[in-house]
Amino acid sequence: MTPTGRVLLIYTGGTIGMGLNAKSGALEPLDFNHLVQRMPEFDAIPAGIDVHQFAEPIDSSDMNPRLWGRIVEIIVGNYDSYDGFVILHGTDTMAFTASALSFMLENLTKPVILTGSQLPINQLRTDGKENLITSIELAAARHADGTPRVPEVCIYFSGKLLRGNRSTKINSEGFNAFDSFNFPPLAEAGVNINYRYDLILRPDFARPMTPHFVMDTNVVVFTLFPGIQEAMVRHLLSAPGLRGIVMRTYGSGNAPQQPWLMDALSEATGRGIVIVNVTQCAAGPVEMARYGGGYLLQNAGVISGHDGTVECAIAKLMHLLGHSRDTALIRARMNSPLCGEITLTA
Ligand code: ASP
Repeated sequence: MTPTGRVLLIYTGGTIGMGLNAKSGALEPLDFNHLVQRMPEFDAIPAGIDVHQFAEPIDSSDMNPRLWGRIVEIIVGNYDSYDGFVILHGTDTMAFTASALSFMLENLTKPVILTGSQLPINQLRTDGKENLITSIELAAARHADGTPRVPEVCIYFSGKLLRGNRSTKINSEGFNAFDSFNFPPLAEAGVNINYRYDLILRPDFARPMTPHFVMDTNVVVFTLFPGIQEAMVRHLLSAPGLRGIVMRTYGSGNAPQQPWLMDALSEATGRGIVIVNVTQCAAGPVEMARYGGGYLLQNAGVISGHDGTVECAIAKLMHLLGHSRDTALIRARMNSPLCGEITLTA
């Protein structure tokens, strides 16, 4: 199948469009239009492609919620003119952006595919060309009835199309930079692209897509480790303005059974701080009632992050806190899937 729709490429920066700075030798973002003009493969793609480039392309370590809002604005402004969107983005924070966009673009009815590369697109051994070309194909792909095959925010990288809010960067060097440990790929691209239609979300095509912009950044991620000190935890929990925490726990959601820890957490949840339990393990869900430590966390008012990623939990928390001050409502929504980001087990 060849892509024939209209796709808007949004270039935010990242290695895919970088070149070497002659002085420092470090990679820095270049003009993407200029790069693709010198790429004959790009002209051969039958889809209608336009490029919208950030005024100042960034290394994705500089990505932030204001720029997520900028991406959403670009998508909203062009929503009716394109069949799908490809976002070129650095890999370092791509999973955070994909997660955030999945909540910011409610009832998304068109594909939004994030991709990038480990080697710049103008280098001989680049992985960027395949990632870019296949992403365009995925963004343009439609069913016979004209509806898109993948109306979701996804990451495409190294042959796999992953649900964006299930993805994690797993490799700083290999071309297989992303994985989704708790959810299968939505499609795999080999000789053919094999879609898992049983997994791909179907939005309500009769309803419009609703964009959301507000994110509350009064949140923090913190990791448990053996030897963690009460003074440090209490300092963190008393940070002015703090409204949400993603706590990276052990195994199936376990924690040290120290009374001071449970008291400190319970005081914080009592003050309305939403604390979400996400495991430090790459794969598998949180099951808080399984061990004594997890059970105590539950009693302290900590809620389960289920089988979601840290990237997704923090983005979802920012989104929900940005739209409500009702802690009970935020806790309830954290506990239910909004767009396929967690699986609830009985
Ligand atoms: N530092 C780069 C970035 O995230 C890495 C990459 O693009 O792969 O922008």
